Amino acid sequence: MAGRRTGQADDSERPVLVWFRDDLRLADHPALHAAASAGTVAALYVLDPAQGGGAQMWWLHHSLDAFARDLARHGVRLILRRGRAGDIVPEVAKSVGAASVQAIVSPLPWLREADRGVGARLEVPLQLHVGGSLVDLSQVRAGSGRPYTVYSPFARAILKSGPPPAPLPVPVLRAAEVGAVASDQLDDWGLLPKRPDWAGGLRGMWTPGERGAAARLEAFLEDGLEGYDRARDMAGDENGTSHLSPHLRWGEISPRQVWHALGDRQGSDAQRFRAELLWRDFAANLLMQRPELPERALRAEFERLPWRRDAGALADWQRGRSGIPIVDAGMRQLWHTGWMHNRVRMIVASWLTKHLLIDWRGGAAWFLDTLVDGDLASNSANWQWVAGCGTEAQPFFRIFNPLTQARKFDADGAYVREWVPELAKLPDRWLHQPWAAPEAVLGAAGVRLGEDYPRPAIGLDEGRNRALAAFGRHVKGH
Ligand code: FAD
Repeated sequence: MAGRRTGQADDSERPVLVWFRDDLRLADHPALHAAASAGTVAALYVLDPAQGGGAQMWWLHHSLDAFARDLARHGVRLILRRGRAGDIVPEVAKSVGAASVQAIVSPLPWLREADRGVGARLEVPLQLHVGGSLVDLSQVRAGSGRPYTVYSPFARAILKSGPPPAPLPVPVLRAAEVGAVASDQLDDWGLLPKRPDWAGGLRGMWTPGERGAAARLEAFLEDGLEGYDRARDMAGDENGTSHLSPHLRWGEISPRQVWHALGDRQGSDAQRFRAELLWRDFAANLLMQRPELPERALRAEFERLPWRRDAGALADWQRGRSGIPIVDAGMRQLWHTGWMHNRVRMIVASWLTKHLLIDWRGGAAWFLDTLVDGDLASNSANWQWVAGCGTEAQPFFRIFNPLTQARKFDADGAYVREWVPELAKLPDRWLHQPWAAPEAVLGAAGVRLGEDYPRPAIGLDEGRNRALAAFGRHVKGH
């Protein structure tokens, strides 16, 4: 008996390495939980050189900073390394003498490839846990045994099997002795912009880290959830949505935590909010089954579309100089805060891909560079949806009219006035269509079209007809 007890004690002293990826939290972390119950804990984050756009790297810096402090409160040091995970994870596992490596499943193609590489080179097991999605996406299957490619049956299948598993608490951690293991300094990674420092707007709006995420959720439950179903579409209404997307993107809070925080609230607000969380899982599910999602149209005939190469129009769109106020407001909000309202994301994406006939991949790449919530799965799936080329896309002939959209979702013009201040003095009637305003109205509002504010590159009807003609020629069945 004594021998067995000693043996158990020895085993439980053996470190377990947790390889953190897009899951920078202590609570509801099944990989951390597994490690904590198996032995002492060592923690690793590996920065891949090819990782992420500028705004995402800003977020990552602050998120890692907060997370390292949180771990340190439990006596655990976060080992930071830059390079290929396939080389680094086995090396660090060896130097800490790990009995196993624990991580959370990722839908990202490059991380799944890294998992295979790490798994092949590790001398100890690599165990992957479900923790970034509401449910185990590999188990969500249609009757045919195939994964779902359409949202509604996917969501129904998940809802039918009851609520997702309850979140796990923060485990009691015993730190492994890793003092001798080399770690980079976060500051040396140079993730923050310096010259120029464009991150002022981001700093003003966001608090990356697990505590920032919890505070956002609490504020949303108190002030935002009631009325969400209606207000979520209103561009000017700051409290209309939860703003949890970057926290979910970086795993500072899990979707299960968010889901369970709603309790058993029923009604259209809570149901609608749950449906949005399910859209996030659906996008991850699509990326897992179709890793080419970011690069190729899921509907093959869209690869034949004669996208226009127009670097000038793309740059004007990126910088919020398209001449369509609601589009420019969205693009400036994105540049300034790293985030854009969902409805406006749809409007700007539609303007780019339909009226301007510019390839959705150009827009998706800009989003990934500038969004703090830039997520390969959600971004690619939504761009394909708007462009009409996804598995479940809005039909190409449904072309958003930005004027109608703006009048509906920014009815009082507050959103455009905030982000396009040079138009602020225009009366409501002309605010969303300055190109049509009489000279005297423009003059009284201090707007010189073409100088203070651009004219659109193409008229609304002309752009719509050009898109319909191009799509109609190349897309089957239309
Ligand atoms: P809420 O309305 O409070 O929703 C709660 C959560 O549900 C969000 O945080 C998000 O995780 C999820 N969610 C909501 N809508 C969607 C959706 N349409 N698809 C998938 N998940 C959703 N979301 C990203 O997280 N990253 C992206 O890179 C991204 N790119 C997009 C690109 C385009 C062209 C479009 C149209 C949408 C994109 N979205 C993306 C989805 C959506 O716009 C954002 O998730 C949402 O605006 C985030 O704000 P919120 O947290 O306040 O959302």
